[in-house]
Amino acid sequence: MDPAFSAETRRTDLDAMAATPPDLLVIGGGITGCGIARDAARRGIRTALLEAVDFGSGTSGRSTRLVHGGLRYLEHGWLRLVFEASRERRVLLRIAPHLVRPMAFLFPIHAGGRLSRGRLAAGLWLYDLLAAFRNVRVHRTLSRRAVRKAEPQLRSKDLLGGAVYYDACCDDARLVLANARAARRDGAMVASYTAVRSFEKAAGQLRGVIVEDTIDGRRFAVRAHVTVNATGPWSDAIRQLDEPGVAPMLRPTKGVHLAVPRARLGNAGAVTMTSPLDGRVMFVLPWGEVTVVGTTDTDYDGDPGSVAPTPDDITYLLRSANALFPDARLAPADVVAVWAGLRPLLRDGGATPTAAVPREHRIVESGSGLVTITGGKLTTYRSMAAELVDLVSLKLHRLDGRTIAPRAPTAVEPLPGGEVADLELLVRELVKERLSEDAARHLVDRYGTEAMAVANLAFRDSPLAEPLASGVPVLRAEVVHQARREMALSVSDVMMRRTPLFRQHPSQGTEMTPVVAGLLARELGWNPAREAASLAGYLAEVQQMRQALTPPPAP
Ligand SMILES: Cc1cc2nc3c(=O)[nH]c(=O)nc-3n(C[C@H](O)[C@H](O)[C@H](O)COP(=O)(O)OP(=O)(O)OC[C@H]3O[C@@H](n4cnc5c(N)ncnc54)[C@H](O)[C@@H]3O)c2cc1C
Repeated sequence: MDPAFSAETRRTDLDAMAATPPDLLVIGGGITGCGIARDAARRGIRTALLEAVDFGSGTSGRSTRLVHGGLRYLEHGWLRLVFEASRERRVLLRIAPHLVRPMAFLFPIHAGGRLSRGRLAAGLWLYDLLAAFRNVRVHRTLSRRAVRKAEPQLRSKDLLGGAVYYDACCDDARLVLANARAARRDGAMVASYTAVRSFEKAAGQLRGVIVEDTIDGRRFAVRAHVTVNATGPWSDAIRQLDEPGVAPMLRPTKGVHLAVPRARLGNAGAVTMTSPLDGRVMFVLPWGEVTVVGTTDTDYDGDPGSVAPTPDDITYLLRSANALFPDARLAPADVVAVWAGLRPLLRDGGATPTAAVPREHRIVESGSGLVTITGGKLTTYRSMAAELVDLVSLKLHRLDGRTIAPRAPTAVEPLPGGEVADLELLVRELVKERLSEDAARHLVDRYGTEAMAVANLAFRDSPLAEPLASGVPVLRAEVVHQARREMALSVSDVMMRRTPLFRQHPSQGTEMTPVVAGLLARELGWNPAREAASLAGYLAEVQQMRQALTPPPAP
């Protein structure tokens, strides 16, 4: 299959799915939907995947970015989830080594905090045990002195000691994209900016959907034998299109993260902490020049598309970080970016504290045959997908007697870019081709084995070897690659998900957006009005985010 994944393949795929009904139609291009499409296509099921905005634009691109067993879940006794997630951590480190990286976490213990040293040590033994001692490394406990040496800016008052344990950190939006691309590589028809608006039924049974291409406004039908609703926080809205008045399955909770300059907070590495404000487990995560602090966990019942951070969320995160790093004295003016996502958690009656709502997933089928999958974790997407596709296979078998492969080899086959485990080797190859080591490392971290394809664009067309702006590592060639092979269709797709500029750059990279828009216009054949609209769309996202950081006027 051609590695192209672009406006052109999108058009061809939309035409193909409208012309010949797929066996399986997946609604939602987050990690759940893209994982399902990848698994199903690999088993030979004729699959279509539709995403209303961009791959990873929902919850999946707003996570804490951890591929983790879930240390805090041990407190709730969710051992099965930790066991499964630990196995998946191992799998993802193997199939996407460029996107999922091992990370050491320091967990300090202070007197008067919610956790004692003994309880932490017991938890970490269990954590390593549930990973069959095959985690990146086994944890180790640290004396007070060793903690101070590792993180000199940590609050030393009442510090008793701590431990170092291991998990992995990923590029969440690019992991979603890699699955969408792998699905297409295996034959799926894949389109972003295509929203399902209603269902078509015959004799009460689902026959297909009416979709809207949100780029040109065209509406058309896509018929399918099986339709799966994998829309995360939007799952109930889609279920209600199928069955008006159906009881909700979800209890969505909002999670906010913010980024501050790493030098301002002064953390050396990743830190897991219990917030001194309410004892919740939180993370301080280095990410390039910034450190991400998160997350909150509060009930949310509004429109999933409008979820946004509030001043209270920002105050909570800054106060928690300041309590652990007292010299930082972070204030809202230090925040580079802030964003919110919605956990699609399963409804539990509503009385449980948000942190204790189970993170497991559920699959339900409506009377008309709509299959909904929701809940779960970014980390466990692959096994959720396999379980869901088992059900789809059974339904297709009942329909026409066909036999479908019992499993897709998704645990061993690399995701696009993940074909070589030794990333240093890739860096050295690029350096040999006269790239600087920094530039080579930057490309390998993002594109893995495809870094050479990006570099070749730059070698062949020297203006593309220029960065988007001076001092920024992102090359112009990347935008071209993203349009041709990663279906970047807007300035926001580039700035918010395919590069981390929205969250890492102090000005959200606004000064480089005309260059991005110009490159996309050339690739996608935009007229000036379309180019201006795409630029304005991104600036509106930036403006909205900055509003969250502006304190309301005094009454
Ligand atoms: C703050 C936060 C931190 C988290 N941190 C972690 C973590 O560190 N590790 C971890 O493992 N998990 C984490 N999670 C959980 C994880 O992110 C989610 O479980 C997962 O991303 C859900 O993915 P999804 O595909 O189900 O939903 P989404 O990613 O929201 O995808 C649903 C998609 O459906 C699309 N859609 C909606 N309506 C339509 C329609 N009508 N037509 C077509 N498409 C439609 C949306 O645009 C969206 O892209 C976190 C969650 C949050 C909120």
